[in-house]
Amino acid sequence: MARERTHDVLVIGAGNGGLSAAAHLRRRGCRDVGLIEPAERHVYKPLQNYVGTGLARDDELSRPQSTLIPDGVAWHRTAAVSIDPERRVVRCANGAELRGRDLVVAPGALVDWSLLSGAREALATGPAVTTFVDGELARTRDRIAALRAGRALFQLRAQPASGRETALKPLFIACDTWRRAGVLDDIEVILVHEGDRVHPVEAIDAEVRRHLDRYGVEVRPATHVVGLRERTVELAGPHCSSDEVVDLVHLHPPYSPPALIADSGLDAEGTGGFAAVDPETLQHPSHPRVWIVGDAGDLGDARTGGALRHQVKTAVENIRRQRAGLALERYDGYTVAPIATGRDRLSFGEYDRALRVRRSLPVPDEIRSSRAWYLLDRYALPQIYWHRILRGRL
Ligand SMILES: Cc1cc2nc3c(=O)[nH]c(=O)nc-3n(C[C@H](O)[C@H](O)[C@H](O)COP(=O)(O)OP(=O)(O)OC[C@H]3O[C@@H](n4cnc5c(N)ncnc54)[C@H](O)[C@@H]3O)c2cc1C
Repeated sequence: MARERTHDVLVIGAGNGGLSAAAHLRRRGCRDVGLIEPAERHVYKPLQNYVGTGLARDDELSRPQSTLIPDGVAWHRTAAVSIDPERRVVRCANGAELRGRDLVVAPGALVDWSLLSGAREALATGPAVTTFVDGELARTRDRIAALRAGRALFQLRAQPASGRETALKPLFIACDTWRRAGVLDDIEVILVHEGDRVHPVEAIDAEVRRHLDRYGVEVRPATHVVGLRERTVELAGPHCSSDEVVDLVHLHPPYSPPALIADSGLDAEGTGGFAAVDPETLQHPSHPRVWIVGDAGDLGDARTGGALRHQVKTAVENIRRQRAGLALERYDGYTVAPIATGRDRLSFGEYDRALRVRRSLPVPDEIRSSRAWYLLDRYALPQIYWHRILRGRL
């Protein structure tokens, strides 16, 4: 017989969203929070781009999960296997059945190389492949540093990529590395991206373009990477459906939702299994006591930690409001796109669902890249993440 335990609020996933939700719940007086998470190590994903380009150390990237679980939260070291959303009962891999009066679903999105033909083989044995995924970072760093001439191709995917626009960081940092080494003129740098323009917000797009032009990057819009073989990258799109032979390719990984979402009937139609969610209230459309935050949800907005900071606060507040019979709070799709445009420069574009530029700091211009934004993103934000965001203090 399965062991069953009920929590006031049960959170699935202790990544950026789940951990901060649990911490906010505790700070706001929720006495009984359960958290389901199998991983023993917590990675601060934004640093992956800096570790993979040699601007941060490996040991800065992660911390033991046990040091991050908020005080008073019951950590269930197992994976959620399925959710009965009516009863809000979660069946776990270790046989336990856990119930929540409210459920916060935050299992993130998974890197899924099976969606790109030849990717697994190319990553294992190919001489030219790099990416910012944890486990590949040392190789990425070494290959970028070693390139002295030839062709380098960088990829930027559309949604559902996690932290989509931040995937421009490796391109710009690599270009600046090559410029400083005096070899940029000998390297043909190509950016392939899937949309019509690199960034959806005009002002941020203009700033990105300025730097792409400065480094002499050839940009190919509406272009997909569809396969890999050794040094050959297969591209498909109106500008180039061809095989390109390269000396370095930087892949933006494909993402899939955790199977748990569709297996539990929580998925949104046509999304391949990402969770249905009201993008303003963070509530599941058919199950009002199931709340979705983070990369696993189909909010239609950029999937970022900056967005999550607002989503988590909205979801936690809405749990309280719904219980008190009050009108729910609404999240406006705020997100942030920190894009390093060199080894010591960064553009910190903030915007919302309507693609309006937002400013959370009292400064005249966050979009024009500067050293101050780089220092914020590279050094201050990791500390803010570990000590404030994951502690529910921000
Ligand atoms: C390379 C990279 C760089 C980025 N840079 C930035 C940036 O500069 N700024 C920014 O704002 N955002 C950035 N992002 C985006 C940001 O990191 C993500 O949006 C954020 O981590 C998503 O948080 P999450 O909680 O939804 O998912 P995650 O942080 O991925 O956490 C999901 C958790 O759920 C757990 N889990 C999965 N399945 C189950 C299950 N069945 N049962 C229980 N637990 C489960 C996982 O083990 C994991 O711990 C970046 C992302 C990447 C990949």
